[in-house]
Amino acid sequence: MNALSSLSLKEKKILLRVDFNVPLSSDYAVFDDSRIQAAIPTINTIISSGGSVVIMSHLGRPKNGPEERFSLRHIVSSLEALAKRDVIFSNDCISKKSFEKSRALMPGEILLLENLRFYKEEKGGDEKFAHKLSNHGDIYVNDAFGTAHRNHASTSVISQFFKQKASGLLLEKEVKELNKINKECLSPATAIIGGAKVSSKIGVIKNLIKKVDTILIGGGMGYSFLNAIGLQVGASLVEKNCLKEASQLIEYAKNSNVDLILPIDSKNGISFKNETLINISNVENIGAEEIGMDIGPQSIKFYKKIIEKSATIIWNGPMGVFEFKNFSAGTVEIAKSVAKATDNGAYSIVGGGDSVAAIKKFNLERKVSYISTGGGAMLEFLEGKKLPGIIALSN
Ligand code: AMP
Repeated sequence: MNALSSLSLKEKKILLRVDFNVPLSSDYAVFDDSRIQAAIPTINTIISSGGSVVIMSHLGRPKNGPEERFSLRHIVSSLEALAKRDVIFSNDCISKKSFEKSRALMPGEILLLENLRFYKEEKGGDEKFAHKLSNHGDIYVNDAFGTAHRNHASTSVISQFFKQKASGLLLEKEVKELNKINKECLSPATAIIGGAKVSSKIGVIKNLIKKVDTILIGGGMGYSFLNAIGLQVGASLVEKNCLKEASQLIEYAKNSNVDLILPIDSKNGISFKNETLINISNVENIGAEEIGMDIGPQSIKFYKKIIEKSATIIWNGPMGVFEFKNFSAGTVEIAKSVAKATDNGAYSIVGGGDSVAAIKKFNLERKVSYISTGGGAMLEFLEGKKLPGIIALSN
């Protein structure tokens, strides 16, 4: 992977792929600009080196062509405020007019192209579309770690049309931080894996078994593991088609001398909502009609003890339905514990949309060592997979 610092950017047009897939409110205001902020160092570096920038991104999931609610026009003012300069906008990413705009761009100027996913060719990885896009710049830079695991036109296919290509500063940092886990993970290392579904985490758990000493399981997926070891978990979320793989993971961890730890107790409700009848039980005693929605107090205590003795901590996925206040204690307490361990010298990395949302909700984002901007991309990187968006940046 080439670094941005290896290229001469003076008087060059840089075609920059970023991840501006930011949440918008109903009146199209950006209510969390973290992803725009994350791209600013790369944009500033290009501009201070005498280059100009043509920015391309996706936003949301448009189905059939342009949709007002997914227009990148809505983020122009946030980008202007953060970049501290005007931004020219093109309401199409490959129209004749858009190419006139990129051709006329002067050093120091920023052009933002409309949502790439208004063309189905973007996700389809269409070569012709990628080729067209490539005419916007002299050099290709990818800073969109969040989509680096996708083989899309703008994230990987496009790179063949450039002699000069590099990673942006954010992508470079993500790779450096995640390699601390993949290559130089200090012991004792603990992975905390939660979230809704075990199916989306099997690969990462398998790879982490090779790297860490302990894996703490929580969230909805914990109930599939508990069911896999023969416990009845009432109406909790269970992926029946993953029970075999869950058992195999338990076996694999055991054979690898890794402690894969399941919750001992569970906070259950009768309906999947905040205001419901609540019962805390041992995991052996979840009632037939109960839904496990958080790890219980004994599990929290036990997990905290392990986290606070760790030198390396990787966290992906909430411990329960943290969006409901009554079932947020597991996630809050684990977040605080990760923050405490970090304060005592541990290296901690948190990734995945919902664990990051939880960390932010509890105002702990400055208390962990690194927050990854990639959910799926972080998981695939930690699975040991080669990401197409990263491979594409090598000559
Ligand atoms: P993921 O995207 O797989 O990390 O899952 C995050 C989602 O898992 C959050 O929206 C949580 O509300 C949800 N979740 C966590 N614990 C549970 C649970 N016990 N039952 C159902 N959903 C859960």
